[in-house]
Amino acid sequence: MCGIVGYIGKQKASHILLNGLKRMEYRGYDSAGWAMIENEKLNLLKNIGKVAHLDRLTPHDMINATVGIAHTRWATHGFPNHLNAHPHMDNSENIAVVHNGIIENYTALKTKLQKDGYYFNSDTDTEVLAVFIGAIYEKVQDLEKAVRIALSEIDGTFGIAVLSSYEPEKIICARHGSPMVLGIGDNEYIVASDAAAIIQHTNQVVYLNDKEMAIITRDGFVTKTIDNENTEPIIEEINFDLAQIEKGGFDHFMLKEIHEQPETVFNSFRGRLLADVGNVKLGGLNNMMDKLRKTKRIIITACGTSWHAGLVGEYMIEQMAQIPVEVEYASEFRYRNPIIGPDDVVFAISQSGETLDTLAAIKEARQKGATVIGIVNVVGSTIARETEAGVYIHAGPEIGVASTKAFTSQITVLSLIALLLGRMRNLSQPEGQAIAEAIMELPDKIRQVLATEKEIKAIAEKYYENKNFLYLGRGFNYPLALEGALKLKEISYIHAEGYPAAEMKHGPIALIDENMPVVFIATKDTIYDKVFSNIEEVKARKGKIIAIATEGDERIKKVADHVIYVPEVMPMLNPILSAVPLQLLAYHIALKLECDVDQPRNLAKSVTVE
Ligand code: GLU
Repeated sequence: MCGIVGYIGKQKASHILLNGLKRMEYRGYDSAGWAMIENEKLNLLKNIGKVAHLDRLTPHDMINATVGIAHTRWATHGFPNHLNAHPHMDNSENIAVVHNGIIENYTALKTKLQKDGYYFNSDTDTEVLAVFIGAIYEKVQDLEKAVRIALSEIDGTFGIAVLSSYEPEKIICARHGSPMVLGIGDNEYIVASDAAAIIQHTNQVVYLNDKEMAIITRDGFVTKTIDNENTEPIIEEINFDLAQIEKGGFDHFMLKEIHEQPETVFNSFRGRLLADVGNVKLGGLNNMMDKLRKTKRIIITACGTSWHAGLVGEYMIEQMAQIPVEVEYASEFRYRNPIIGPDDVVFAISQSGETLDTLAAIKEARQKGATVIGIVNVVGSTIARETEAGVYIHAGPEIGVASTKAFTSQITVLSLIALLLGRMRNLSQPEGQAIAEAIMELPDKIRQVLATEKEIKAIAEKYYENKNFLYLGRGFNYPLALEGALKLKEISYIHAEGYPAAEMKHGPIALIDENMPVVFIATKDTIYDKVFSNIEEVKARKGKIIAIATEGDERIKKVADHVIYVPEVMPMLNPILSAVPLQLLAYHIALKLECDVDQPRNLAKSVTVE
């Protein structure tokens, strides 16, 4: 959440900052603002709403600036209004700060500063940090030192960039809990929350570590801990290119990402399946084989869509490897003193690899001696670096705020892990071979599902005005019902509930009447007949039935109002196929409602606050 970008170099900063903000707008879009220095004067501009509003406002006195910092906000403290927009300044108006994260002790600091005569213009925690740095600067007359002292007294999380007319040829940035990447160009530097803001200029980056800061001038940079010990920066290469973060002819990133799934799912298993022996090779788990062979309990922790993927993973691992699995909301995990120990293996799933709650769950699990393995998309992200081992899902950059391709790739990777764990136990080679072959057929089958988009669009056009939706499924399709409902809520703001189909009669059935569309994921598996009975129960109460069914299932046509067919597949892999029509349904409903599909209200990608 929140996108930060800073630039120092030879080019006009405004273009680079603006571009960087646009590339990171999926991280937050409540307001946007920047600060630049020209002729040693600090100039600030901010506006409520999206980056485009800022674009129209570039004042002339900043046009030639070659150093600046900028921010796109996802509000945590204070309304998304002009006053609360970043950057925030100290009382001298010579220091500007942009911030991602939460300063937890801001109230106490604010009260103390107010007693000392300092004043505040906003409700944000960030302004407290800016004013605090300014107050310290008055005493120490050294920007780096002032930032360091201030950060040492801060509780909470931060990614910050600081710019000051006191020392105009410098940007200071630091992180603790929120990502910060430094791009190294040709006599120019770009610092950002996300490599997406950097790739256009350079692919050489340094990922800052927690409690690390960088002091960047036109001639170079140094990194050190916020306790003032020098660190050795490791220069890495960004692993994606510009085309991957552009829309490529699609109207929305979400639609592009839905259509990318044949390739992204393929990339998730490419080079990892040993089809001839019915097994899997995951380089990132090489050191973990012994541990995985011995473990008697697995915990999967994640948030949101990744949590739904985790539920599918639970069913897969329990079925294939017969190991008990628990799926935990990362946001709850650390606060309930979980029973976990050195024999347990924890899989932490996060698309961005920066999800703060998941990171905190990882720390909790590690502190209790468990082995933690990351399943993340973004290479070099914090979770990827803070776990003992991991598996990248290789879905490529996901820009649409509502996750689509990351979900199917997460499940694909979980199917590989389940297969690996199964083959370490009782799963036979022929069984393993059958699963491996089924996984390899997925990309073509996803292409077939994508070809049904027109029918799905027609269904969306019929039901987009309904106020409620119910999503039902059983077995492997139950987590998918949750995910289908979440997609619809996220981007169309329609109330939707996902339930295990049989649980419906313990409550949600009361909601069913002729105005309730019910989406059944009713593909062929061992409990198909039971799901069919649930469909009949809805039908008997006049609910409108939209069924996702297996190709060739003629029976379902008799009860469902609409049927979307997906190719036959091994039941445990069906969530990967059936996710696609659910994503398309949500997309086309949101489109009909003229919602902002890629940037739904109140949401942001990469949830780096609690
Ligand atoms: N706490 C800051 C604010 O509300 C930054 C929020 C964030 O990082 O998402 O402005």
